[in-house]
Amino acid sequence: MPHSTSIGANGENSWQFPTVLRRIVLCRQLTGHEDGSIISPLTSRIYAQNFSTPHHVCDLLSAKEEGHAMKALVKYASGVGNIGVREMPEPSPGQGEVKVEVKYGGICGTDIHIYHDHYKNYPPVIMGHEWAGQVIEVGPGVERVKVGDRVTGIPAAYTCGKCRYCLEGQVFLCEDRLSFGSGLNGAFAKYAIVLEKNIRHLPDNVSYKGGALSEPLACCVKAVSFLTGISAGEVVLVSGPGPIGLLTAQVAKAEGGYVVLAGTSIDEERMETGKTLGVDLTVNVETEDVAAVLKDLTHGYGADVVLECAGAPAATRMGIDVIRKEGKFTQIGLHDHPFEFDFLKILTKQLVVRGSFASALDAWDRTMTLLGQGKVQTEPLVSAILPLSEWDKGFDMINRREGLKILLEPED
Ligand SMILES: [Zn+2]
Ligand SMILES: [Zn+2]
Repeated sequence: MPHSTSIGANGENSWQFPTVLRRIVLCRQLTGHEDGSIISPLTSRIYAQNFSTPHHVCDLLSAKEEGHAMKALVKYASGVGNIGVREMPEPSPGQGEVKVEVKYGGICGTDIHIYHDHYKNYPPVIMGHEWAGQVIEVGPGVERVKVGDRVTGIPAAYTCGKCRYCLEGQVFLCEDRLSFGSGLNGAFAKYAIVLEKNIRHLPDNVSYKGGALSEPLACCVKAVSFLTGISAGEVVLVSGPGPIGLLTAQVAKAEGGYVVLAGTSIDEERMETGKTLGVDLTVNVETEDVAAVLKDLTHGYGADVVLECAGAPAATRMGIDVIRKEGKFTQIGLHDHPFEFDFLKILTKQLVVRGSFASALDAWDRTMTLLGQGKVQTEPLVSAILPLSEWDKGFDMINRREGLKILLEPED
């Protein structure tokens, strides 16, 4: 059995020192790092985390030797960059796990943050947390998922299951969380292993391409429907017309809001897509007076709701300036560095300001329902599909804000 020597669920005692050593050697082969700089954090982490999953990041045992390797996009060491296509072992599902043939994996802003090492990651690890695929094998004890199922999954791959956040379904807030594609091997590969509990079935009307956007949609559904709350007719400003902005805008529309989408000149094409997806009005912040536009729509008060999806300091400041007193402001886009901000405006305008990070279990259920009802369209956001080996082109396109969602297609 390929995994007979892998990390057991019974704690440190299940470790055999030669096994650790073998892993380290194979890790070196994988990363090309002979100085051992990644070795000690890696081994200490393996010990500390007491993994039960045999396909853990550095589980290069067996497969390479037996020839069951697959191409995968790997963050192979800490620091800026250090990403490349590597041969990784084809994984097998263990207890409660499902093996999926990945059809498409979406490149996310988070992947760019992982590239720059701004988002916590544990190299060497296969990247990719937005995906859709087909189940090709199930491990022992799997009941709800069958071979042939069309699926996607929740990327909170490992959580403690005991803390208050886990118990209330806010699994992304769990202190012990390790996410698919940054903490544990993800979807930028031909095959991936997913815990059965994290699998969600794609509705029949949703394609694999559209289904690969389930995860970002779940983040927007959490932010808009569960954390902000919009009532019919409220004027909602969505800033940042990238994939997250366009999904957020659609959820806000589905909730009954009047949606104004704000972007810059570089976003013209994205704004046009927004219109075809049902946005009520688009505003170019470089050539138009956003505050005036919003006042016109609200008897002079300003936006009832601001959903900030750009993750840019200027967009956050603008949102706080154009929102009405007692309005609701939710930050959805990730800022990649701290910035200065006049907090007094929150106080004097009596604002409700909140952040929304990743998704949650209730938001995932609603997401699959919304997709099934056709109330939100995801496939029109797919602007390019690249083979896995051309991942760097995709990353460049995102950096240039070219197109919308870029999918990677696994290769043999
Ligand atoms: Zn994402
Ligand atoms: Zn927890």
